[in-house]
Amino acid sequence: MSSEAIWFGSAASMLAGVATGAGALPVLFVRNFSDRLLDVMLGFSAGVMLAATFFSLLIPAISVGGIWVAVLGIVLGAMVLHLADRLVPHFHPALGEEGHPSKLSRVWLFTLAVTIHNFPEGLAVGVSFGTGDIAAGLVVAVAIGLQNMPEGLAVALPMLREGYSKRKSLGYSTLTGLVEPIGGLLGVALVSVFHQFLPWALAFAAGAMLFVVSDEIIPESHRKGFERQATFGLVVGFIVMMLLDSLFA
Ligand SMILES: [Zn+2]
Repeated sequence: MSSEAIWFGSAASMLAGVATGAGALPVLFVRNFSDRLLDVMLGFSAGVMLAATFFSLLIPAISVGGIWVAVLGIVLGAMVLHLADRLVPHFHPALGEEGHPSKLSRVWLFTLAVTIHNFPEGLAVGVSFGTGDIAAGLVVAVAIGLQNMPEGLAVALPMLREGYSKRKSLGYSTLTGLVEPIGGLLGVALVSVFHQFLPWALAFAAGAMLFVVSDEIIPESHRKGFERQATFGLVVGFIVMMLLDSLFA
């Protein structure tokens, strides 16, 4: 493993990040997007992330590093996300303002929230390329890209409703995805240079992903009264990711 993995990891996490902006494209054409459909799609995102956490991160983490490394890595990943969520001021549509009080504008707080959320996804793509298995890395990148699309839309729509222009809403949404290549590069570079960190990094990304799914995506998808639809979206997303992993990785 090598510069090739690093190159692939960075490029793939960049593409996955850009998918966030692609998902937000409908705001250019429609103002009223169905909440029900958006919640089903967010549920799908959560399902993809859960299955990626198990099949693409934890199973390899356990097989390389053993069960206790996986356990500690998950705890660390979840704790770091918890601390970031506590300390960094940010805003969630579902939960309101969190973290340290600050005078930043609503849009920046919102962007920070999505950054906290998207960083683990980039990390997940990066470390899965760090395993040296390019096919496995590509599967995670495609899955993360796919599930970024509804997330991008979920960022852009509320901005549009708060009175921001179509282009600004699309622009911010795209920007939030671009934190993923940073996480991706960091993840793949770290495990390429310090190979012994690989199982830790895989499990850490898994813990961070679990945190985001439970703390943000599922509550967001259950906020407007379409809980059951979102649950079926989750089940479908889980199956799609499980299939991708077992057919291509
Ligand atoms: Zn938060």
